[in-house]
Amino acid sequence: MIDLTSETDYQLLGIINWLRDKSEQQDVIGEVYDFVALLKGIKPVFLLGRTPMPEELIEKILKLALDLKLFVIEGCLWDATAYGQFPKWYTEYCRGQISEFKAWYICKEEKFAMSIKKINDLDGILSMDEEARLLGYPVCCVNAHYNRAHRYHRGSLSILKRLAKGNEQVMRALAMGNAQLAPQTNEEIEDFDFAFQIHTPHLGSWNMCDECKNGINSSSNELEKKYSGVIEMFLKLNPMQ
Ligand SMILES: [Zn+2]
Repeated sequence: MIDLTSETDYQLLGIINWLRDKSEQQDVIGEVYDFVALLKGIKPVFLLGRTPMPEELIEKILKLALDLKLFVIEGCLWDATAYGQFPKWYTEYCRGQISEFKAWYICKEEKFAMSIKKINDLDGILSMDEEARLLGYPVCCVNAHYNRAHRYHRGSLSILKRLAKGNEQVMRALAMGNAQLAPQTNEEIEDFDFAFQIHTPHLGSWNMCDECKNGINSSSNELEKKYSGVIEMFLKLNPMQ
């Protein structure tokens, strides 16, 4: 049984204030809000470590999660990118790169811990729906996230092809050698512009889809309201927000 006491809230507040004192970026603080959302039952799984953040913060959150006897599972970053139309070597190259990044999946319930382990056993490959369900993010936004990833890969392959003059062996060697990928054609520039769009909500760390950002779809708005319901006390205590 998880004991969510005022002591836990006090520790969370300490972490948030510590980040603010360090003028840490909003997306890092957003991850702490994600952790609060997990603790208060808004999301099934909290993913720690996707955003580059101070080592000290990871340690503080992991310690608190372990003190609360949560399930803490280390694994590679999940990836639901639709690689289907890309060459096999490119897919393997991308998956190899992702596998080098470690993250922690934290949850309160054993059934979710089982799901996490299953996905990690599959090297982090899962469906977009599954990712949205487990991380508690709007499906539309998760789909948009992977649509951006898809455009990034399409643009990257186009650049590699252009640099290698269509020779696949050379493309591969360039990719492996981490060649500088500078978009040049209109299509490449459009793909990269699209791929790097970031619309973070005020609270939380997911990347919103255009529809959520423009208020056409209310999914992110509803989730933000839930976040604000449980984070309110932290915001009141932190007038800087
Ligand atoms: Zn959305």
